[in-house]
Amino acid sequence: MRIIVQKFGGTSVATPEGRLLVADRVERAVREGFATVVVVSAMGRQGEPYATDTLIQLANAACPELAPREMDLLLSCGEILSSVVMAGTLKARGLPAHAVAGGQAGIITDETFGNAQILKVDPAPLMKRLRAGQVAVVAGFQGCTQTGEVTTLGRGGSDTTASALGGALKAEVVEIYTDVDGVKTADPRLVPDARTLTVTTYDEIAQMAHYGAKVVHPRAVEIAMQQRVPLRIKSTFTDGPGTLITYSVEAAGTAWSELHSDSPVTGVTHVTGLAQVSVPLGEGAPAVRPLFRTLADAGISVDLINLSPGSASFCIAERKAERAEALLRAIGLEPATQLGRAKVSVVGSAMRGRPGVMATVVEGLTGAGVAIFQTADSHVTISCLVAAAQLRTAVQALHDAFSLGSAG
Ligand code: ADP
Ligand code: ASP
Ligand code: MG
Repeated sequence: MRIIVQKFGGTSVATPEGRLLVADRVERAVREGFATVVVVSAMGRQGEPYATDTLIQLANAACPELAPREMDLLLSCGEILSSVVMAGTLKARGLPAHAVAGGQAGIITDETFGNAQILKVDPAPLMKRLRAGQVAVVAGFQGCTQTGEVTTLGRGGSDTTASALGGALKAEVVEIYTDVDGVKTADPRLVPDARTLTVTTYDEIAQMAHYGAKVVHPRAVEIAMQQRVPLRIKSTFTDGPGTLITYSVEAAGTAWSELHSDSPVTGVTHVTGLAQVSVPLGEGAPAVRPLFRTLADAGISVDLINLSPGSASFCIAERKAERAEALLRAIGLEPATQLGRAKVSVVGSAMRGRPGVMATVVEGLTGAGVAIFQTADSHVTISCLVAAAQLRTAVQALHDAFSLGSAG
């Protein structure tokens, strides 16, 4: 049996018109002879009635301290609604569709409500549907624990559902359909001339996703890599080959030069909503230990960390800034917090050991009048902290500096 997993994001399933386009894609796969599993996200984005953000607001309005397990129970409903509506649309087309929740699809997770990890996937329930000639329509973003508690997989987690099912069912390919025509050299909302990558490796895209390219969830790429399932990112709204993410030239059926470009940078990514915290540490720096332990115990993760003998500075999510300030003051520290920061990163496995990448980053940003507040790097990334108000300028400047545009 040739199996395909097709995942459709929130914008794809938001409207009746979008759902008809989704049905076209599913029908085509069925006609081509694929046993088809469809994974759907909650319908629409922020502000729309059944979107995940709307459900979060609903929960917060009822009780700001809702228990994580109850929050997950509520959030899972967005995808469940969507799976039933999508199955209905497919049935109206004459396709034998069958809607299932994540737990019913055999997805077993740990108990980390809000950000659960998939422990295993039992392929039996979906294989039963596929063998019966049905199209299984799975609610993405969720699973259940061994004891039957409903969990969610973290924001953007329907991609993870698709990869995990693709691996467990030994699918030929996992297609991720969204509102852009593939993985681009930068977010097209910020960089209109961003180019679509035709073929690339799991490593490259996993890095880009970790550093903010939200077009695909990093965990989805990692699972696909472990299970050796090719991923293809495509648009629901336009035709085109999209981006193929795979591991080798043979698998890609393409030239090595296309898979590994000459440029040290593959893409420019960004993360918004950051706050930069600076903490003077005084003599001897004994305060550094309680500082990071206090934040860790409160579940506040830190990034872009810079420790020197007299001070520490780091970034946290802006929405956690008030809480972090209060916690640090309570242990006698005097943090200074700067809201409205964003992180821009250049990502590329070809930058390993290549001199001049940092020079180009600095020249690109300063040449465009963007102030750099902090930097961090790994062997395949360089990140700079900038003012959120200068984000668009910064991303475009780096994109230009490495000639990544369609004319580049
Ligand atoms: P979905 O609801 O389909 O999962 P998302 O909103 O999660 O869609 O992801 C698609 C969005 O990702 C696009 O609309 C685009 O603005 C954004 N994006 C960010 N970085 C990139 C990139 N490098 N390439 C393509 N899209 C990107
Ligand atoms: N609906 C969830 C979210 O908005 C999961 C997803 O769309 O992938 O994060
Ligand atoms: Mg997404």
